[in-house]
Amino acid sequence: NSMATDPKNIRVKLVLLGDSGVGKSCIVLRFVRGQFDPTSKVTVGASFLSQTLALEDSTIVKFEIWDTAGQERYASLAPLYYRGAAVAVVVYDITSQETFKKAQYWVKELQKHASPGIVMALVGNKADLHEKRAVSSQDAMEYAEKNGMFFIETSAKTANNINQLFQEIAKRLPRTSS
Ligand code: GDP
Ligand code: MG
Repeated sequence: NSMATDPKNIRVKLVLLGDSGVGKSCIVLRFVRGQFDPTSKVTVGASFLSQTLALEDSTIVKFEIWDTAGQERYASLAPLYYRGAAVAVVVYDITSQETFKKAQYWVKELQKHASPGIVMALVGNKADLHEKRAVSSQDAMEYAEKNGMFFIETSAKTANNINQLFQEIAKRLPRTSS
């Protein structure tokens, strides 16, 4: 029975990419601490947080989350940042077409430079601001499908779909043993 088997522990490096202001740090804070701080300022310095997630099959996934410290504009630094990452979460803001375009740029960069087999998620954040929506779910979903990515819309503000995002990523991780 399952009590007799050792739980499997997986440790994964997860990086967040996307324009400044789309809500990357808020997504991490919501997932790790269950909080939302609307007054939070641009992250200064490197930010590293970890959080474990238990899956239904008793696997324990420890996410080591790398959040960019406001260096989004230094594209040349990015390969250092996502080297060795098992998961890349590319975030845009559903109220900004420009951030969706930027997300597509990051996806292309990952396809060129990231580890083969990296799990990629496309995240449309600020879904609570639906009255200001500028990127349709349909367009984003089609783009994600075409690029072999998992797609979800989230709100770090209301917590909608934040846990689901990490649960779905965890399900898609390659398993070394059966
Ligand atoms: P980052 O630069 O991508 O890390 O973005 P931040 O996490 O610092 O968030 C930028 C701004 O967007 C902050 O003012 C947040 O309060 C706001 N924000 C983040 N997530 C959400 C969300 O889901 N909904 C709304 N309405 N605002 C959000
Ligand atoms: Mg940030």
